[in-house]
Parts: sequence; structure tokens; C-alpha cells
Amino acid sequence: MDYQSILNEIADEITPLLKDGKVADYIPALSMVDPNQFGMSITLFDGTQYSVGHSNTLFSIQSISKLFTFTLALKFHGFDLYKRIGHEPSGNPFNSLVQLEYEKGKPRNPFINAGAINVTDALINHYGDETSAYEEVLKFIRAIADEDSIRSNPIVAVSEMEHGYRNLALANLMKSFNNLDNNVLDVVQTYFNHCAVEMSTKMLSRAMLYLANHGVDPITGKSYITAQQAKRINAVMLTCGHYDASGDFAFHVGLPGKSGVGGGIVALIPKKMGIAVWSPGLNSNGNSLVGTMALELFTTKTGLSIF
Ligand code: GLN
Repeated sequence: MDYQSILNEIADEITPLLKDGKVADYIPALSMVDPNQFGMSITLFDGTQYSVGHSNTLFSIQSISKLFTFTLALKFHGFDLYKRIGHEPSGNPFNSLVQLEYEKGKPRNPFINAGAINVTDALINHYGDETSAYEEVLKFIRAIADEDSIRSNPIVAVSEMEHGYRNLALANLMKSFNNLDNNVLDVVQTYFNHCAVEMSTKMLSRAMLYLANHGVDPITGKSYITAQQAKRINAVMLTCGHYDASGDFAFHVGLPGKSGVGGGIVALIPKKMGIAVWSPGLNSNGNSLVGTMALELFTTKTGLSIF
């Protein structure tokens, strides 16, 4: 298949839509990003990459980091993790407080903010303290992307904490229900540090390969998680990766995917490739408007989807 021509066609077709999205402005450091940008990359199992647009530009991965923290928490805690976090779609916005109150402090899934904050707490338990948890997550991201230069942007992490009222409220609510073990500020800051990691679409599409290949990196042969864990992570990505728009994403794109308010979306085609797209303008659900459209065009043009 001529992937390069398909990516070029997609870039042409989405250009008129770039002006329609709205950059996340509740994190001041992200509100400065120019919305008029688009990048897309795919990485095949032999390492071959195809890209178009701003595919080397680093952007804030934000909630895409929840995929990597969930992977590690599942690896170390196994099924016990589901005592503190569910695996059902929430049908609510990513930062909603209402459901968490009704459900007694147990987040619906690891991809809404409450769930990811809870996962970070579980990782701090495993690694012993918040600094080690942060460093180990970063080390894991560098390994799966095969890229040692990856860093978290401290300006974004600080900016998030300065305006982190909602996330702090979620963490405090979980603490009040005895479903958070560590200090609220430490957990939320560690969560923000992971969200503020910066990567390009080239790096992210490479980083998805272990999930496309039953937990084993097809290039290095390194095994990160079991096939069963990879299957479950992909299932939760499909059902919960886009919050209250997860059904819509499955309907239009037909792949497991995870979005972030930085405008990135990762997706994968099992046994075939990792995919990443970035465009900072968001739709009303907080997912990249053009990114979602580009992925829909990709599965339509290639005929590749999981269905
Ligand atoms: N760091 C962001 C937040 O907590 C992540 C949200 C997202 O990407 N959807 O609000």
C-alpha cells in the first residue's frame, strides 16, 4: 500500500478544517500553541515510518500519558488494580466530578482524569515515592519510543498545577472515600508531570508498537506486558480513550485510540502499525478536531480498521 500518498492526501483534505478547532485554554501554557499545525505518522513493525506535516514537532502529550501509566500500573498490580478503578466507559467529560461522588470515589476507568490520578497513586505505592514514580514512567516512555531525549516540560506542569482546581478536587474526593493512599498534592503534581511530557507524532507512533503486538516490541523483541494485559489495555482504549466521545471515535475511526488535550491522538492497527496524529485545535469533547478527521480518512482510504 502507498502509505505516503495516502498521508499526503489526508494532509490536503484536512487543511480547510484547521481553523475550526479550539486550542485548550484552561491550561495557560497550552493556550499559546498555534492551532494551524498538523502532523501525522505511522510506524510499521519493521520500523519503517511514513509521515506528513509537523511530524517532528514536540507537543504536550497530556492524556496520552494515561496509556503509559495504566500499562505500568497493570503490569505491577495486575487484577488488583480494578479494586480501585473500573473499566467501563464513563459517558461523561474527562474532568467530571459528579459520577465520582455517586460511585463513592471509584473512577469509572483509568483514562478519565480521576482514574489516571488514581493510577498515579498506585504507581507511587509501587515505586515507593513520587520522584521514582515520575522517573520510571519517563524511562518507560523513552524505552517504548526508543528515544532518550524525551522530557517533561516544567512550564506546562507548573501551569497545570496553578490552575489545577478540578484535578485537585477529584483527588480530594477520592481521598475522602479512602481511595487515594498518598499525599494529594504529590499525586496530582506527579500526574501533571507525566501529562507535560513532550513528544512528536514520529515518536508516539513508534511508542504504540508494543500495544499493537501483544505487549512485545516487534523491533527490539522486548516484552513489556503480557498478551492478556495488552488486549485489555486496547479494549479500554477503544471503549474509554475519547471520554464521552469514545463511541463516536469507534464509529468513525474503528481503531483503539487515546487522545490528549494537547491535540495528539494515538491509535493502532493490531499486528500492523502504530499511528499518531497531532493538531492542537480541539472539538467540544476536548479531542483533536482535525486529528479525529485525519484518522477517519486514514481508515477509510486504507480499508484498515479492527472491524
Ligand atoms: N492534564 C490534563 C488535565 O488534567 C489532561 C486532560 C486531557 O488531556 N484530556 O486536565
